[in-house]
Amino acid sequence: MRIIKNTDTQSERNWLSEWGWRESGPASLAAYVHIPFCRHRCGYCNFSLLANREDLYERFLNAFEIELAELKEPRRVETIFLGGGTPSILPREPMARLLGMLRHWLPIDSQGEWSMEANPLDVTDEFCEQILSLGINRLSIGGQSFQPSKLLRLERDHSPEQLIKSVERAKNYFSSVSLDLIFAAPNESLAGWQDDLKTAIELNVHHVSTYGLTFEKGARFWGMRQRHEIDSLPEELELELYKEAIESLCNHGFDHYEISNFAKPGHRCKHNQNYWLGNPWWAFGPSAARYIGGSRSVNHRGTIEYIRRIEKNRSPVDELEHLTAEQMIRERFVFGMRQLAGVNWNSLRSEADSATSNSIEAAMGKHVAAGWMIRNGENVRLSREGLFISDVLWSEYL
Ligand code: SF4
Repeated sequence: MRIIKNTDTQSERNWLSEWGWRESGPASLAAYVHIPFCRHRCGYCNFSLLANREDLYERFLNAFEIELAELKEPRRVETIFLGGGTPSILPREPMARLLGMLRHWLPIDSQGEWSMEANPLDVTDEFCEQILSLGINRLSIGGQSFQPSKLLRLERDHSPEQLIKSVERAKNYFSSVSLDLIFAAPNESLAGWQDDLKTAIELNVHHVSTYGLTFEKGARFWGMRQRHEIDSLPEELELELYKEAIESLCNHGFDHYEISNFAKPGHRCKHNQNYWLGNPWWAFGPSAARYIGGSRSVNHRGTIEYIRRIEKNRSPVDELEHLTAEQMIRERFVFGMRQLAGVNWNSLRSEADSATSNSIEAAMGKHVAAGWMIRNGENVRLSREGLFISDVLWSEYL
């Protein structure tokens, strides 16, 4: 793999080819958009965003429009995911401008999936009506918990009541509503997590994404843990909470289709499935990472630097990697294995050279023998035990 750190010295714009795009290559069916604004920064979050910077919305959208226009012509996609940050934070006019430019440059079929992440506080009737009328058909609500004390610990800015109201309201407008829930927050108990799951189930959401809290360098929680102000949960309890999520959600009609994702029938996230299948995708905005033509490029993380570069007619790309054929196979294997259905290894192996295929086979043989993977004819997938330790397996394939 060749990683090139962009030196920010380009003056000529040809970002489409820098992204790895070739007209003869496969179409990108998915697009990710990063909106880097939030009201405040939650303690566990190290995403690329600025808190309380309404003054930058217009400059950001100006830069973003220039980046989008580098597509040169409208490119049809099947899915768009607006994440961040908190895309729902944008007021009415900037929101209309953002969605209007996306509709122009990334036209999406009526059958397509267009998701937006939303903070519960933003989910008003007016907001839902506006974004629905502009094409959004799936809302992903960043709720995280229904317990007042856990929300406080996570430094969320909404109450359980506001979260419940936002889910109920969103369901009146959108055919698919997803809820994010965090587990393994400091001091969390099994009973509290069971209550979170019970409320999510009673609310009858269509999709749940649930992640164990991580302590990322750069997030405030990282420093707090270093200073012993907060602790991570013991690993055994975290595992118990994860098992509880699987049990409860699967017992109530959810299909556990990816390590961290659960869907009611017909509600899997098509956008994320593109990632797991190794398909190419576009990406726009600060810190956004795209994968096109075997190249992965990542925009600068800093919102101001992203804007500044574009204003100076320079590329916002900060890193560019050209993956080798071997790396692409290895990544497709690992991403594909995140899905509970696993990977069609016979088909993937037919695209690999013998050294790559033998090396994956050797690791797989070990993991099947250990009971962490199940091989069934041409298919290989994680076992239930493998699910619980999947993070430690992947380094043997990459
Ligand atoms: S967790 Fe979500 S709402 Fe909180 S700062 Fe990060 S992106 Fe914003």
